[in-house]
Amino acid sequence: MNFYVLTLFPDMIEQGLNTSIIGRALDKGLLTLNMVDIRDFAENKHNRVDDYPYGGGAGMVMAPGPVYRAHQYIMEQIKLRKGLTHNRFEYPDKMEADKTVSAETLEENKSEKNQSTEVDKQNSKPIKKQTRVIYLTPQGSVFNQGMAEEFAEEEDLIFLCGHYEGIDERVLEMVVTDYVSIGDYVLTGGELPAMVMIDAIARLVPGVLNNDVSAEFETFQDNLLEYPQYTRPEVFMEKSVPEVLLSGHHAKVEEWRKQQSILRTAKNRPDLLKKAELSQKEKKFLNDYLKK
Ligand code: SAM
Repeated sequence: MNFYVLTLFPDMIEQGLNTSIIGRALDKGLLTLNMVDIRDFAENKHNRVDDYPYGGGAGMVMAPGPVYRAHQYIMEQIKLRKGLTHNRFEYPDKMEADKTVSAETLEENKSEKNQSTEVDKQNSKPIKKQTRVIYLTPQGSVFNQGMAEEFAEEEDLIFLCGHYEGIDERVLEMVVTDYVSIGDYVLTGGELPAMVMIDAIARLVPGVLNNDVSAEFETFQDNLLEYPQYTRPEVFMEKSVPEVLLSGHHAKVEEWRKQQSILRTAKNRPDLLKKAELSQKEKKFLNDYLKK
């Protein structure tokens, strides 16, 4: 899977993601992480990418031109399927030739946002595929595990990180397919949200976790939080591991874990529990607990 990030702070994302599990997956080539520095697509000598907001008000707004050209550049790279290393792109002469956007290109972008044509190998027919461009914004739909699963099906994903007061609305209308927030609070930039999303999506890509099963039975699966986990030593500061986990009785362990999941969800996330599908026996267990 290929991640592309349009950002003013590529180092932040590269350094944040190039370690541990995601770092190993990048080394193995299961993922690629491609940084595009929006500043490299500025048109002025000082590489300025922001300007004052029309109508006045506090703060600065990211200008549409550099974002548009950086996006165009990525789309070209995706079409050519090259430059796919976990590095920053080497720009051909900083896109000198591409700095003026023709009216035809604008028209094409409006009607077929981010579409590329690929060939369906089974029936050799061309298929139109839309490359999703995710704008990280506190105004978007709040990211969750279901969305991570959906995005993990994509081959290429482009993330657009805003800064300052955000990005000129016109370019967002032209290139963005998904508006996603990581929660109801305002951060200084889209880089941390992009890292959060990439981490959550990347770990669902087959082979990224050593043990693929570990992505299958965990929090949010079936709208339940995961049961508590324990490892050695058996007794830690006079606290023992629950006896059932030492019993070797697989069915009992499973039953205990499910009950713990239900209890945790009831305590911490009753909103989720309403959507969970429980057996009659599990419902009775929950009701007995709630009556206490
Ligand atoms: N003025 C904007 C508003 O009120 O919606 C907020 C801009 S914020 C200071 C700067 C950038 O940080 C945004 O463009 C966005 O990319 C990112 N950002 C901030 N909070 C975020 C959140 N909760 N989720 C995703 N991105 C966020």
